[in-house]
Amino acid sequence: MTELLDLDRAALGELVESLGQPGYRARQIWRQMYQRGTIDPMSMSDLPTELRQQLSEVSSSDREPVEVQTSSDGSTSKALLRLGDDELIETVLIRSQPRDTVCLSSQAGCAMGCVFCATGLQGLRRQLTAGEIMRQAILARSWARDEGRELTHVVFMGMGEPLANYGSVSESIERLTDPDGFAMSPRRITVSTVGIPQNIRRLATDHPHVNLAVSLHAPDPKLRRELVPVPGASVEDILDAVREHNRLTGGRVTFEYVLLRGVNDNRGHARRLAERIRGLRAHVNLIPLNPSPGVVGERPSRRATLGFQQALQECGVPTTIRVEQGRDIAAACGQLRGDRVRKQQ
Ligand code: SAH
Ligand code: SF4
Repeated sequence: MTELLDLDRAALGELVESLGQPGYRARQIWRQMYQRGTIDPMSMSDLPTELRQQLSEVSSSDREPVEVQTSSDGSTSKALLRLGDDELIETVLIRSQPRDTVCLSSQAGCAMGCVFCATGLQGLRRQLTAGEIMRQAILARSWARDEGRELTHVVFMGMGEPLANYGSVSESIERLTDPDGFAMSPRRITVSTVGIPQNIRRLATDHPHVNLAVSLHAPDPKLRRELVPVPGASVEDILDAVREHNRLTGGRVTFEYVLLRGVNDNRGHARRLAERIRGLRAHVNLIPLNPSPGVVGERPSRRATLGFQQALQECGVPTTIRVEQGRDIAAACGQLRGDRVRKQQ
């Protein structure tokens, strides 16, 4: 069986041709999927019945989310999705006037093992295809539309490390920005990465207008290794790639910094961070840790968080503190696990 969402435009054209149908039908199918969000071929109303039937015979059908939870204030909804091989992933829709943002997963699990992250606990289970990423975006947009709202922003901040699945993430950005697809401005898309230098450079070249967020969490190499244990790029290599990203795109980078009580949250850390990123066009987004079972770390005090922000600002670094939504349904960053149902079975 073919998953229609897993075909790129060329492959969809070939499928249509192999069914003996004219080439323009491929564009119609594409627009049905990505503009209207119709994944079930039988519901693609502008196609002839014969083609709808042919497509249904060769493609697998749409699947409903396994579970949907909405936060008590109604601002955030989280869907647990089952993939074809029973892997589970999560997608979050965050409603906050005037923007509605979907937080997409790019992998089932994650190999990086950041000590404070619930997704990291699972290790990497597998990469997601571009179709599996787009299915999440289509789902979130249909929720928003059903409520008379419009999906305005996409962030790759769900489960997984997007730049460790570069091909699928890049292809899904193509479809999100395609005028025949979601037709979104790349400026409304953000890729958040733990820092994979060569792919930060690639992203700058392939998608210069997509926003880049780099999860730094520590000013010094030793502390960073403790928090992000996977042997990978050094802080210096990551900052070199960010410098290059600044140069190639003319844009500004966001550094994400998860604050852990007593670990990386004092003013000295803030000053060293400011020193490290001096000369870069950047702003820092502070994220007070969301503790969850099985992961390391405690939430910083409000005082420490504000003190950290103030110390950065005194060094001239623009700094915000992340506004959190959906904590009561564990939909905040780093709380996406996706293994709940599997465990219950
Ligand atoms: N792998 C990518 C994107 C997914 S994580 C990355 O690491 O950037 C998205 C953001 O959530 C990252 O900044 C990550 O550090 C943060 N995060 C992970 N666990 C968290 C937790 N328990 N509390 C707060 N933020 C967390
Ligand atoms: Fe992976 Fe990002 Fe979680 Fe680290 S914070 S384990 S990179 S998903």
